[in-house]
Amino acid sequence: MKNCAIVGINWGDEGKGRMVDLLTEEFDVVVRYQGGGNAGHTVVNEEGKFALHLLPSGIFRPGVLNILGNGVALDPENLWAEMEDLTSKGISITPDNLKISNRASLLLPWHRELDALEELRLADKKYGSTKQGIAPFYSDKYQKKTILAGELFYPEEMRAHLEDLLEWKNLTLTKVYGADPHSMEDLEKWMSDFCDRIKPFICDTGEVLKKAQNEGKRILFEAQLGALRDLDFGIFPYTTSSNTTAAYAPIGSGLPSLKLTDVIGVVKAYSTCVGEGPFVCEMFGEEADKLREAGFEYGAKTGRPRRVGPIDLVATRYGVEVQGATKIALTKLDVLSYLEEIPVCTHYIVNGKLTDKFPFPPDLSEAKPMIEYVKGWNCDISKVRRWAELPEEAQSYVIMIEDAIGCPISYVSVGPERESIILR
Ligand code: GDP
Repeated sequence: MKNCAIVGINWGDEGKGRMVDLLTEEFDVVVRYQGGGNAGHTVVNEEGKFALHLLPSGIFRPGVLNILGNGVALDPENLWAEMEDLTSKGISITPDNLKISNRASLLLPWHRELDALEELRLADKKYGSTKQGIAPFYSDKYQKKTILAGELFYPEEMRAHLEDLLEWKNLTLTKVYGADPHSMEDLEKWMSDFCDRIKPFICDTGEVLKKAQNEGKRILFEAQLGALRDLDFGIFPYTTSSNTTAAYAPIGSGLPSLKLTDVIGVVKAYSTCVGEGPFVCEMFGEEADKLREAGFEYGAKTGRPRRVGPIDLVATRYGVEVQGATKIALTKLDVLSYLEEIPVCTHYIVNGKLTDKFPFPPDLSEAKPMIEYVKGWNCDISKVRRWAELPEEAQSYVIMIEDAIGCPISYVSVGPERESIILR
């Protein structure tokens, strides 16, 4: 695996962070290429348990170079808080092991506020935003109304640029939402409190990556959220505002000419979904509560209880396709050990018709799940480390998913620890 992307196949929270953490051993560079601090990876290792929001998961491995590419929503305030948190727990973060693209756009102080104001305006039609400012950030980026991180090295020009943006943004804040305006003093404080602190990490990461590639280094591309949250291919408008698909890795990381050699798609052994939007296989009541508790399904960023359901073969097959996955890591198989019979969503019924195709967004709200039950293994598998030692029913469950999605399942995870992964 030379140029490998690790991506989510479903709605996010599939356990990508732990896969990146595991695989960073085999890679020299780890790049985050999209998204911002709106989601969280949980990584458990010898150093402890960490919730990462913006930092690449390779930050825990000595000798690994971590890059925040131009495609990320660079929030200096959250990034600095995360860096401080990790440093206080003994993780070393220096300009040698973390580099931030000078072409990454800055998430500005008003983006978070606008996110909250818009969700408030939408009331019961809200998108379920994590209110980290991601949607306002990306809309402003595409309107060319943000600041590039590298502009911090041009203080005069940056000040003038910020003044222009401030004047424009205050119109929206005050006239559209009736909120208080921001001032240049606020922005200056934000710059000295946060931007100046991350400045030593900012450089031309495209050059760094080109050099790494020329030297034959192995590069891992780390995505946030999953295929169904992709702006172009997901459950629009309940998507995120960036491309979560592997195809965006070359652009968002700063090496547009790059060809990925491998795409590892991460799939959870059952389904979870945070926030609003259609979730066809959703379970409710006691059945859902039991699964949520068994998997401890609460958002890493927000603590919100996640919606849960059985594995959704329709959505997963679609996710594999749009990600162009070459192999799959199936996580949290151990969580299903309490079940004597495991529900599986095999098809959808859309407008009275049985289908195995993932529907166009407006049809999703009409779709009903077709559920079948397969035999569970009903014993603890969390200590199993070899495929042959997995109970037959657990092996059959994995093979059933593999056959349905048409992609080899190469890793099966049975616990959160680094060693709880079965290689097939
Ligand atoms: P990510 O954003 O895709 O990295 O996913 P999250 O970090 O939100 O969710 C993964 C959660 O599941 C973390 O708390 C992990 O420690 C935990 N986890 C990952 N793999 C396994 C597994 O195989 N079994 C169990 N029990 N927990 C796991």
